[in-house]
Amino acid sequence: MAERTLQVTGRLGLHARAAANLVRVANRFHSTLTLQRLDGDTEADAKSILEILTLAASRGTRLRIVAHGVDEEDALDAVVGLFSRDFDETEREEIDQSAAQQLRCSGLGVSEGVVLGRVLRFQEGAREVYRARIDDADLERERRRFRAAVRLSRRQLEAIKERAEKELGRGHAYIFDAHLLFLEDAKLTRDVEDYIVRQRSNAEWAAKVVGDRLLSIYTQINDEYLRERGSDIEDVIQRLLANLTGEGRKYPNLSEDAVVVSRDLLPSTIAELDLSHVRAIATDTGGWTSHMAIIARGLGLTAVVGLRDFYERTRTGDQILVDARRGEVILHPTAATIAEYDFTRSSAPAIAANVTGVVDSGPVTTRDGVSIALRANVELPTEFQTVRQFGACGVGLFRSEFLLSRPGLMISEDEQYEAYKALAEAAGSDGAVVRLFDVGGEIGNELKERERNPALGLRAVRFNLRNQQVMRTQVRAILRAGAAGKLSLVIPMIADVADVRLAQRVIAEELDNLNAAAIPCAKVPTGAMIEVPSAVLTAEKIAREVDFFELGTNDLVQYTLAVDRGNDKVSDWFRTLHPAVLYGINRTLQAAGEAGIPVIVCGEMASTPAYAVLLTGMGAIDLSMTPAMIPRVRSTLGQIDTQQAREVASKCLESATADEVEEIVRSEFRARWPELFPPSKLPKASEPTA
Ligand code: PEP
Ligand code: MG
Repeated sequence: MAERTLQVTGRLGLHARAAANLVRVANRFHSTLTLQRLDGDTEADAKSILEILTLAASRGTRLRIVAHGVDEEDALDAVVGLFSRDFDETEREEIDQSAAQQLRCSGLGVSEGVVLGRVLRFQEGAREVYRARIDDADLERERRRFRAAVRLSRRQLEAIKERAEKELGRGHAYIFDAHLLFLEDAKLTRDVEDYIVRQRSNAEWAAKVVGDRLLSIYTQINDEYLRERGSDIEDVIQRLLANLTGEGRKYPNLSEDAVVVSRDLLPSTIAELDLSHVRAIATDTGGWTSHMAIIARGLGLTAVVGLRDFYERTRTGDQILVDARRGEVILHPTAATIAEYDFTRSSAPAIAANVTGVVDSGPVTTRDGVSIALRANVELPTEFQTVRQFGACGVGLFRSEFLLSRPGLMISEDEQYEAYKALAEAAGSDGAVVRLFDVGGEIGNELKERERNPALGLRAVRFNLRNQQVMRTQVRAILRAGAAGKLSLVIPMIADVADVRLAQRVIAEELDNLNAAAIPCAKVPTGAMIEVPSAVLTAEKIAREVDFFELGTNDLVQYTLAVDRGNDKVSDWFRTLHPAVLYGINRTLQAAGEAGIPVIVCGEMASTPAYAVLLTGMGAIDLSMTPAMIPRVRSTLGQIDTQQAREVASKCLESATADEVEEIVRSEFRARWPELFPPSKLPKASEPTA
């Protein structure tokens, strides 16, 4: 046996990449090599990266290395040499330094607030892991399944490493060496296999338990840099789980100050996440009207979207500042940057702060005596109570597809009935409008095969007509709940009269079936969502077939201008105030007026005070919006005169471009209502707008 004493001198301590080098050197020798901290009794096998990292040996730590075997002296020489060369890390340290440098990224702020927190990387498509008991006879098969997942993960990591080497250079690819070593570390593989056998457990559960155990060791490490490397282990475990379950990856444990960073966040995921701990959201994709943004605003969450490749630059645990007002995120903010913000005051979004105040309710009356209903758009059952809190005239739009919190999972008729009944109760005498499932597009990708062009595909009413079991179940639940409260039903994405007639036939048949079975139910008013240009162009004809219209301005902008509402690359072309969009809205309002049916404007446009004024100028008297925005829209509309709004709207309708309309809005609003519309509340010149 031989031993030497060493000191860690590298700035970043014995971190993952250094440890990977040490493992590689140690594995060249037959002797056992053990590292011991001189200031305690922790020790680690120098051939196990996971054990080395749990030493938490930061700069200055003194270690003893003990070698035992035929080549013990040579092994010690090699290890001492590696320590004296700072683990051959000089070139790579620069990368680590730059990784910890402040990084600003611009996107689009879609709500309010400034939040300082820690990154929680979130990858879509993940699933929970469940425990299953395995029969003795099947334990060997379970271990083989685990080994196969390790092999598959290795192949994936090698491919990623190769690509990263080509695209980013050897320095960046190096971290995947460490991932490969984690994956094959006996501390992980042996422990998982032991757990499978001892606990008669399925491989997924065993990998999760062992992984959680390793991660918990990391969270106790004092050195911040080393602690954050826990996310590398987390990454590897998630990969293994994904390969075992054949599903995606999941990060279920949220810390108090979690900032969810994701490439893309499906609304169904938001519905499923425990949001009580999430402080902010930052995503690579998305736009002002994507559902993720709408929900973030509804919940008062600070959110910045459209950050392009930001996700790739982060690690779980990194410090992050999210500034939704400026539409910016700052990774590893310096002390000076943090000092620019005043975090002693509440940095929660102002819109969320309204929840506790006493608010007015009922319709708002403009200066010239026009009564305008202000309703709530709701997505999640947890939002039902906000209808009252923000003084809404009932629910103008319930996006019922959010009941399908996991894509692919349909809920039963009785569960839906309970949800619609609760909705009707929350809405009270003003009633609630339930939209038939608007799945397809960005929601519910797994309900069907992926389509090349989902926004133009089997979405909304088309999906319902093709999946009649789903549609009939929902319709029955709505008709039954209609007997217990005031409900209406709206059919999404109507393109023409034929769509309306087909959907209404199904509704009429289900009403007959319920009546024939003597099940309590009620015929409910039926409306059409007008959000597709062909529906605008045939609005008079559709108006004769339905009880009311709902104007979905989010999709109307998307389809009229052929601009994907969730694609940040084209957000400059998403112009709510485009004359073609205003023309469509105006035409729809007129057609409904002539047919004598009401119109609820329920797109995000109604949530923005300046746009709400313009809508009233075109004759809208029924607006539905994110509940938290109601007090603000109420206060604005209560101080304007619709006659003046009409004058501005007619000038806008005569304009040729979105820029011209925005200029009219800026100058006219400033001149007519200077206190209501300071420049910050108006569309900015030549910038993307809501
Ligand atoms: C719309 O399109 O404007 C609308 C209200 O519906 P969604 O945003 O859910 O598509
Ligand atoms: Mg829509």
